[in-house]
Formats: sequence, C-alpha cells, structure tokens
Amino acid sequence: MGGPGTPASKSARRSAVTSSKTATAPKAPKAPKAPKIPKGESHLALVRRARRINRELAEVYPYAHPELDFRNPFELLVATVLSAQTTDLRVNQTTPALFAAYPTPEDMAAANPEEMEELIRPTGFFRAKTKSLLGLSAALRDDFGGEVPGRLEDLVKLPGVGRKTANVVLGNAFGVPGITVDTHFGRLVRRWKWTDEEDPVKVEAVIADIFPKSEWTMLSHRVIFHGRRICHARKPACGACPIAPLCPSYGEGETDPEKAAKLLKYEMGGYPGQRLSPPPDFPGKPAPALGAV
Ligand code: SF4
Repeated sequence: MGGPGTPASKSARRSAVTSSKTATAPKAPKAPKAPKIPKGESHLALVRRARRINRELAEVYPYAHPELDFRNPFELLVATVLSAQTTDLRVNQTTPALFAAYPTPEDMAAANPEEMEELIRPTGFFRAKTKSLLGLSAALRDDFGGEVPGRLEDLVKLPGVGRKTANVVLGNAFGVPGITVDTHFGRLVRRWKWTDEEDPVKVEAVIADIFPKSEWTMLSHRVIFHGRRICHARKPACGACPIAPLCPSYGEGETDPEKAAKLLKYEMGGYPGQRLSPPPDFPGKPAPALGAV
C-alpha cells in the first residue's frame, strides 16, 4: 500500500508541487494508489488519519499563507470582505487603489459611496460590498476607536463580517487560532469524511475537536491551498494528489496522472499563490510571472 512516505506518494507530491508552480506535465508519473480506509473507521482512526493528512499537506505546502495582500488588521478585514465571490488575485489587484484612497476606517467611513463602488467594481457585488465597507468602517470608528477588535464576538457584530471573515482576521492579523470554513475547506473535509456536516459553524466545531488549537490557522491555509490547487470543486486532480492514499474520495476526479497534472494551473500571482505585495518575511519564492502559466 502506498503510504505517504512511499515512492508513489512522494512522486505524486513532487509532481503536484512542480506542476502547480510550472504547469509542466511530469514525466510518466505513477498513479497514486487507491486508499484502504475501513468503512466503520473509529473516531480515533479518523483523528489519526486527519492529522496525517495535515502533516502531509504541511510538507506539500510549507509556504501556505493567507493569499490576500494586507499590511494591518483593517486592510485584511476589508480585503476579506471583498474576497466574497471573487479570487484573491482580483482583490489584490483592487485594494492598492482602495487603501490609497481610504487608508483608515475614518477615511473609509466618510467615503463617497459612488466613488468607492467604482474602485471595488472589479471584485463584483460592488454595491453590497460598498455598503458593508461603509458600515463596518463607521462601526470601527464609532464603537472601537478606529481599531479592528481582536475578539470574535466583536468582529461578528460588524456589518458584513461573519465567523469566516472574523477567523481569517483573528488568525492572520492577531495570531489568535481560528478555523476558516470557506467553500474549499467545507468541501475537502467532507471529501475526507472528517465530517458530513454542511453548516460551517458545525464543521468548525468538529474540526476544532480533531486538531489542537495551535494547528487551526495553518491547517486552514493548507486545506484551502489544496482545494484551490488540486482538490478542485468540479474536477479534483486525484491522479496528482499527494494525499490520495489517505482520501476516501479518491476517484471522484481525474485519476490518470498525466490528465490530472494538466488540471494544476492555479499559481497566478507573482509569488506562490496570489499575493502581489507580500511582506518582507514572506516564506515563498517568486513563482512564474502573471500570464506565464
Ligand atoms: S478527492 Fe482526489 S484530489 Fe481530492 S483529496 Fe481526495 S484524492 Fe486528492
């Protein structure tokens, strides 16, 4: 059986990472072996398998990180609100002009709505997003002294801010562990049979029970990275998936290694992922320039 340390899985991992960076089809890769996961898996076995998947993902994506550009909690909060129904790359292309025009909550709260709509139009749903940004900026100005609060219960009271956005901000701007149950995270944990819950709040509770708090933020990044790069919603690239031996849904997508490798075309920004202005301590190395993949 091809465990994660076997040549088969290492080869799959290598081909997955290489392909996601260069989109070059690997040479005659071997298909990952189908998993052998017992139907009546005990909770303990599930926890062990889940943690092993997390360790595997940590090897595959050592540079997993939030893919939105931000320099402070306010920018991350705004960027996360804008990221609904669009790509992080699109948000990163949009926010420099937005933050130049409105660098603080006070500036943003006083913005002309039509002007803000024009600035954020490329992210879609720009009228609703403008309303949210004006509302949350005003709330920050009036209720929190112009600062983004570092507590979940305060964040979720802000207009347009749900648990997902709050956890992104807590985990990445405040260092408070948080599980981000976005569309990728929910889809993958259900494919892995960690849970069959659909409600993000329930999913979050189940995952919180499987992993120690110290893993929550990075686990979220890794799972989302995997969902964006390999375990796609419509056509997962199972044949190029480094955790196939641990996945009960292996075969839901393309299992032919060469065809699967062609599905890996995610890296779109100037760095691994979609960041265009990463901070100086950014862990990734430059990836192919935009348009090169
Ligand atoms: S469904 Fe396929 S691509 Fe997704 S984790 Fe399982 S084996 Fe990998």
